[in-house]
Amino acid sequence: MDPYAVELLRVSKSYKSYQALFGIDLQIRRGEFFSLLGPSGCGKTTTLRLVAGFEEPSSGEVRIDGQAVAGLPAYQRNVNTVFQSYSLFPHLSIFENVAFGLRRRKVGDAEIRRRVDEALAMVHLSEKSKGRTHELSGGQQQRVALARALVNQPAVLLLDEPMAALDSKLRKEMRSELKRLQKSLGITFVLVTHDQEEALTLSDRLAVMNAGRVEQVCEPREVYERPATRFVAEFIGTANFLPVKVTEISNGRTRVDGEDGQFWVVSRPGLEVGDAAELSLRPERLWLDKTSDPDHNSLNGTVAETIFMGPVTRYIVKLGNGHQLLTEKQNLEESLFQAGDPVCVHWDADSGALLPR
Ligand code: ATP
Repeated sequence: MDPYAVELLRVSKSYKSYQALFGIDLQIRRGEFFSLLGPSGCGKTTTLRLVAGFEEPSSGEVRIDGQAVAGLPAYQRNVNTVFQSYSLFPHLSIFENVAFGLRRRKVGDAEIRRRVDEALAMVHLSEKSKGRTHELSGGQQQRVALARALVNQPAVLLLDEPMAALDSKLRKEMRSELKRLQKSLGITFVLVTHDQEEALTLSDRLAVMNAGRVEQVCEPREVYERPATRFVAEFIGTANFLPVKVTEISNGRTRVDGEDGQFWVVSRPGLEVGDAAELSLRPERLWLDKTSDPDHNSLNGTVAETIFMGPVTRYIVKLGNGHQLLTEKQNLEESLFQAGDPVCVHWDADSGALLPR
């Protein structure tokens, strides 16, 4: 059996003269929670709509469960979509909202009752089934929209920013709810979001998109610790960037020369001696000391600013060449450094990521 629930093969999409997607390749595995993450306008929703059958690609192929679906209308695809706006029917009861798709497909009454009851129980709304949608909170309406999609037992559930209209507390609750549902049902979820925290916490794997292209597909930890491009490193979390040049490669490690010194980093396939690169460093992976430590990468600077942020303190360190490094330290003890103090910034060779330049 084909291991992929959804595949996009060199898919491009143009709207008249505007090209929204440029030859996208994606392979979404059966049973995984997959997210499409990227800034507004990068093509996430377009990608989802191509899978759902609301749009057709200009070129390339979409496959669902191993079958090409070109020309197959949305209602004949084994997928269901939950929209940001929920699109519930105010004139129907909550039960009938969930039953809507089954009634259109002429499913028998007993079967409808059984499946709608089951779907409402899944989203903890059994006791509300006779009510109307306007009697529900935003989070509850979102659950009805989920139940309405799940009642069709799709192979793939497509979720287009489903939590965007909820406040941040409710959004976090819905996140756990979504993850629980996906785990217990074992069906493939494809989530569109521009919220990096949402994508990192929910996904088994994610695709980071930028301007109609996929920049990286991998697991959350990898996308954070080994970003493929500067765009990914900047979009997910915060990073410092130092311009460097590759000077030596040995045993999986690469030595690079920067303006302020030489550092060892984990090698990046494709980068050769002599290549220009950028070293990406996460603020929490840097630590400050009064003296230099030859066992770690090290840079000298002066604390320019300290910013207390509750659980962490941010230190902005000014280097000799005027560059600034942002570092972050958990507030486990009193801060040892004040603005104006000379410091050494350290980090492990494993902590940085080399990016092509
Ligand atoms: P957002 O997070 O803002 O929803 P997105 O990443 O989902 O953004 P898309 O909705 O896929 O982005 O849009 C990608 C690009 O294609 C945008 O520039 C958008 O203006 C354009 N676009 C989308 N749909 C159409 C359409 N029907 N006609 C013309 N242009 C469109």
